[in-house]
Amino acid sequence: MQRIALLTSGGDSPGMNACIRAVARKAIYHGLEVMGIKRGFNGFIEADMYPMNLGSVAGIIHRGGTILHTARSDHFMTPEGRAKANENVKRFGIQGLVVIGGDGSFRGASVFHQEYGLPVIGVPGTIDNDIAGTDQSIGFDTAVNTAVEAISKIRDTATSHERTFIIEVMGRHFGFIALAAGLAGGAESILVPECPFNYDEICERLMRGYKRGKLHSIIVVAEGVAGGIEVGRIIKERTGFDTKVTILGHLQRGGMPSAADLILASRMGARAVELLMAGSKKDMVGVKAGEIIAVDIDEALSQTKAIDTEMCNLAVSLSI
Ligand code: ATP
Repeated sequence: MQRIALLTSGGDSPGMNACIRAVARKAIYHGLEVMGIKRGFNGFIEADMYPMNLGSVAGIIHRGGTILHTARSDHFMTPEGRAKANENVKRFGIQGLVVIGGDGSFRGASVFHQEYGLPVIGVPGTIDNDIAGTDQSIGFDTAVNTAVEAISKIRDTATSHERTFIIEVMGRHFGFIALAAGLAGGAESILVPECPFNYDEICERLMRGYKRGKLHSIIVVAEGVAGGIEVGRIIKERTGFDTKVTILGHLQRGGMPSAADLILASRMGARAVELLMAGSKKDMVGVKAGEIIAVDIDEALSQTKAIDTEMCNLAVSLSI
């Protein structure tokens, strides 16, 4: 193998730059050439790519976002779009592709491998942490830290004004950020799409707290549950409490990556290159119990990542 290519796709996540750096440097360390593809699969189709050198990835490790930019590409969903991308594979002599992104990006990589045989390695980069086959994805830890910091700031004002705050965090189908941030932030209730909840129970808990002199309450809601505004409206209607809603939104995607994400991104990026060099055809890099592993992309995609019920129960028992 002489030349590999690398792209970031789907939603960006803090730590993608550190992963780009690791892929480029590890490849160059082993004497490989690296093409950086811009704007995800769009750049793959449009030949928007450039040869990377050691300097291309200098001074980026600590920066959020992705220097390669990212995109969603409708064109890559079509056979014609992928055929154009394959022309670029031949034109630039690309012998392996590293895709840093979420499950959609891995689906695209897998389809491309099936059609044209190019070895592809997926590296999970998404704040949602919703990819099966890995305990953690790049960016999740930073997003949780951002949410926890926001919760603690809101707690200060909630205490001063004796209010109930609803904090909506990202997670359309999964509550990983909500559960981790809610537990770490000491939320009274955590609402996630995976677990049924009822408003009576939440309101009863709020009333119990109020009766024993609690000055504030924090409820963390994953966006896919109902939307923070709706949750705040219902709670106010039922309890009469003054509820304030904060939607953290894209704030959770940015910022300097945490040390944990920087280390994870570096380890995963380096392993992606090793896998290509070892002849892997379509693997995803993951981390299990602290060990960097490789799983077949399609096997990972066929599974649904389950929320940690022990953590859910813990959150309930700590917020009596
Ligand atoms: P995030 O988790 O942040 O949403 P993602 O990687 O899941 O990231 P998607 O928008 O689902 O983001 O997918 C990114 C891109 O992957 C799509 O815009 C598309 O170009 C490509 N892709 C997704 N599914 C397929 C598929 N079945 N065939 C070909 N390409 C696909």
